[in-house]
Amino acid sequence: MSPEPVQRDTPACSLCGEPAVIHQRHTGRYLCGTHLIAGIEQRVSDTIASEQQVGPGDCVAVALSGGKDSTALLLILHRLFGSHNDIRLVAVTADEGISGYREETVRSAENLVKRLGVEHITVSFGELFGDSLDTLLKGRETQACSICGILRKKALIVGAERAGATKLATGHNLDDEAQSVLMNVLRGDLMRLVRNSGADSGGRFIPRIKPLMYIQEKEIATYLMVQGIWEDLPECPYALHALRREVRSMLSKIEYRHPGTMLRLMENKKRVGTAFFSKSPGEPFVRCRECGDPCSGDLCQLCQLRHSLLR
Ligand SMILES: [Zn+2]
Ligand SMILES: [Zn+2]
Repeated sequence: MSPEPVQRDTPACSLCGEPAVIHQRHTGRYLCGTHLIAGIEQRVSDTIASEQQVGPGDCVAVALSGGKDSTALLLILHRLFGSHNDIRLVAVTADEGISGYREETVRSAENLVKRLGVEHITVSFGELFGDSLDTLLKGRETQACSICGILRKKALIVGAERAGATKLATGHNLDDEAQSVLMNVLRGDLMRLVRNSGADSGGRFIPRIKPLMYIQEKEIATYLMVQGIWEDLPECPYALHALRREVRSMLSKIEYRHPGTMLRLMENKKRVGTAFFSKSPGEPFVRCRECGDPCSGDLCQLCQLRHSLLR
């Protein structure tokens, strides 16, 4: 999805009067490139501080697919922490082996880390699971996103462990997070709704952080465009997850007519989570009986998947 094109008779930036590049509907402001960039970096920095996502001594593994969200995430974290001596950044890429899609995004990821001088670790599905996603998915294309999600999470954790990371940062933006909230409500999945607010906990999990969780997809795209880093990369050919696609289209229409809807969904999730965990001591964490990874049932998602793939 490309960002909205700037109108011919461009309105002026609400802060400095220069030509605006974006209308930030939830604040009612128009912003020029400079103020958009500064504003986004400040909001990410505020999120990191208020959610205590990164601190001195941390090594942050940044999940870098090469797509726009993860590109923006690495750029912003590099700007915020690149010159800190006591915070290390390592980019981690999971190469699923999706032909016609992965080659280009992996190349884009490699160019970026080279330019920034950031250490880069790539973990391929072939190396980890013995086969590419394309092969693993034969005949199961309809479950592609959920299968890939489980495998990619594992690949990123392996990469983060190899990097010696203490945090794993992913590029989920406000649209992704608000869609997930709504999807969990629609599916009636309360545990999923209240979980993963902020960091995973327990066992040997490396806590996952989402510094872009309050930045809209449109803002991220414009952030890259005004810096000349926008690349029109192919979308994942498996990205057809029916419910998410419908929720995405519905939610962006509602957000357009009622600016701030996505942020309010996030606030609601937080409130429900706080109420829930103040009444119950939280999910009991147990270990998977096969691989020993922390999980909430008898078998972890990856081991369940391994069984069904081998069947
Ligand atoms: Zn301005
Ligand atoms: Zn397991």
